Amino acid sequence: MATHKTRMLIIGSGPAGLSAAIYGARAGMEPIVVQGLQPGGQLTITTDVENYPGFRDVIQGPWLMQEMQAQAEHVGTRMMWDTIVEVQMDGSPFRAIGDGGDVYEGETLVIATGAQAKWLGVEGEQELGGKGVSACATCDGFFYRGKKVVVIGGGNTAVEEALYLTNHSPDVTVVHRRDSFRAEKILQDRLFANEKVSVEWNKAVKRFVGDPASGGLTGVEVVDTVTGETSIIPADGAFVAIGHAPATELFKDKLELDGSGYIVVEVGTPKTAIPGVFACGDVMDHTYRQAVTAAGTGCMAALDAERYLGEKDFKAAE
Ligand SMILES: Cc1cc2nc3c(=O)[nH]c(=O)nc-3n(C[C@H](O)[C@H](O)[C@H](O)COP(=O)(O)OP(=O)(O)OC[C@H]3O[C@@H](n4cnc5c(N)ncnc54)[C@H](O)[C@@H]3O)c2cc1C
Repeated sequence: MATHKTRMLIIGSGPAGLSAAIYGARAGMEPIVVQGLQPGGQLTITTDVENYPGFRDVIQGPWLMQEMQAQAEHVGTRMMWDTIVEVQMDGSPFRAIGDGGDVYEGETLVIATGAQAKWLGVEGEQELGGKGVSACATCDGFFYRGKKVVVIGGGNTAVEEALYLTNHSPDVTVVHRRDSFRAEKILQDRLFANEKVSVEWNKAVKRFVGDPASGGLTGVEVVDTVTGETSIIPADGAFVAIGHAPATELFKDKLELDGSGYIVVEVGTPKTAIPGVFACGDVMDHTYRQAVTAAGTGCMAALDAERYLGEKDFKAAE
């Protein structure tokens, strides 16, 4: 067991954590990134990425994250293969304990642990992930221009995703296992007024149908929750829109979390209520949840951490 010390400790190695690392390293803070169970973050489980600026052609999510990590290491970041199981944030240095007992001490702490999309856990979902099945209409809707898509869910996320998809698809079916939506009324009104959208009420998804090796998704098999009958809704794309779970278990009772579990930050900044502790990326953003916004707030966290340390050093020297 070892103790690793740094001026900037970053938990999480998705676009937010790695962007914070690139800026932190270039500011001389010799950051440490603790990568967690998903090195590279959520983009490592997708295929085509077409909306990250700087690339004319479609790029692959895992490749983008390898490049980001290589860039962070190239400018001086130390990457750690570890998962944090406990954090102590009573005062600086902030301490994080790895699952093997290693201790990480940071004069500043950047939390970039992300938020995982919730999945249904049914047959075909994993196999057809990135081959017709997605959890992000903003990310993947463009790939279904002119095609038939299905959205699964009944809350705000599902209705917003369905409305977004009507920008691309002439035929959007929302599948919901109840007979009414939980979404806000104004969103429902917009949905019902849109002639590109139809709703399959009282239907639960049984499995995603298709061949991952050729052509991908072809349909979604549903079961009627009232009659028990099964049927297949033909579809080229299916979007699971049943919410996200921010990875904030470690910070309960230590930082303020909102009603959905996201870390609360000072509006327009990555600052938490504890000076020297910053949160960036999906873990503090339930609205945009994109790689480029995560990278942007990661940059902001590093800049604020650098300013915080600069002020602290100045006061100590006075
Ligand atoms: C299938 C899919 C496709 C997507 N496609 C696109 C797209 O095309 N374009 C786009 O812009 N966005 C896309 N997104 C969204 C994008 O991936 C996220 O917005 C982005 O990854 C968020 O970055 P992040 O750094 O905040 O968090 P994440 O990428 O979620 O990374 C979180 C990191 O925290 C680490 N971590 C968590 N807990 C711990 C712990 N206890 N200890 C140490 N480390 C920990 C994880 O290992 C991981 O490295 C997609 C998402 C999904 C799921």
